Amino acid sequence: MAFRNFKMVGYVVYGRGSFNQLDEIIAPHRKENRPMVFLVDHFFSAESGGNGKPLINRIPVRGNDKVIFVDVTYEPKTTYVDKLAQQLKDEFGTVSGVIGIGGGSTMDLAKAVSLMMKNPGSSADYQGWDLVQHAGVYKAGIPTLSGTGAEVSRTTVLTGPTKKLGMNSDFTPFDQIILDPELTANAPANQRFYTGMDCYIHCIESLEGTYLNEFSKSYGEKALQLCRDVFVHSSEWTNDCDDKLMMASYAGGMSIAYSQVGVAHAVSYGLSYLLGTKHGIGNCIVMNHLEEYYPEGVKEFKHMVEKNKIEIPVGICNGLSDNDFEKMINVSLGMKPLWENALGKDWEKIMTREKLRKLFEKL
Ligand code: NAD
Ligand code: ZN
Repeated sequence: MAFRNFKMVGYVVYGRGSFNQLDEIIAPHRKENRPMVFLVDHFFSAESGGNGKPLINRIPVRGNDKVIFVDVTYEPKTTYVDKLAQQLKDEFGTVSGVIGIGGGSTMDLAKAVSLMMKNPGSSADYQGWDLVQHAGVYKAGIPTLSGTGAEVSRTTVLTGPTKKLGMNSDFTPFDQIILDPELTANAPANQRFYTGMDCYIHCIESLEGTYLNEFSKSYGEKALQLCRDVFVHSSEWTNDCDDKLMMASYAGGMSIAYSQVGVAHAVSYGLSYLLGTKHGIGNCIVMNHLEEYYPEGVKEFKHMVEKNKIEIPVGICNGLSDNDFEKMINVSLGMKPLWENALGKDWEKIMTREKLRKLFEKL
């Protein structure tokens, strides 16, 4: 058996206000006449960030640096990554680095654009495992939502012409992440819950999976405890909750890095491919119906939904055609490691197409 030699993020800074160190952190990575490019979640184009000061005014723009607000209305597409990388190549030739400031979508865009500054062709050519040939330009990630674990992962999830699949590679993790819980303070309760539940579900799928080992367990148990502190035991949302959820996301990401996700993610990928359902909410829609696979986790999930007064959409597959169901089933069953982790080596006997169709029909 070969053990995974896991490439981690280069540098991590954590703490309230740590965003203020961005200028000094990136200074050594600036190359003459080559700009730093800040890809910023479009949410921050008008709204205010932490400290009551607009985040945008706190970005350390120097020389020919460029700030690009990225549109994350839809999850990142390979066409969008290619367009951004081409725009930078046309304007500057190359750049010193790419800094992603936003939720999982923005961080994924930053990772992918960094890689495409140094790898030829389209990002769609690299959707898969270990297809990326060259390190990208310097890249840093700064989350403004907590839960996806995109800040620590070796992937960047992209929807391409034929599949939704990440650029998984040892070149993909960030060189630097800045974890400043002040930046998540403005997130609306629903969005915060959906993204936070991504982390909760990572923990359940990792801890209940057959790939579990002490590495994943150590991080997964801690992340789960932090999720519970925030969504079960807290009577109101406080700074402490932002601090905890940011570390939960990190630890949850570390947990799945050395194990795998499971049924909720495999099914949610099908929804997202066909219907464009976003990752966090899609996972919640599926988790709501997974008693058979994660009885304790689903019970607690439902309790958190109720306690935090969140609406989980139902009936999203009503009226779909047989062809639509087939497409979702194909995408979902294509996620083989997820199923194997969840159900064991004989998963194909357990999760038949008929059974999966019934599950999709319930959503
Ligand atoms: P997101 O990045 O898609 O953002 C969701 C919404 O929240 C957007 O409208 C955004 O503008 C807004 N937003 C961001 N920060 C905000 C803030 N502080 N206050 C208010 N609004 C804010 O959401 P997400 O759940 O963080 O990320 C989901 C994405 O992450 C998906 O594209 C998914 O594929 C990806 N993902 C990647 C990995 C990975 O390992 N690379 C893992 C899980 C998910
Ligand atoms: Zn996830």
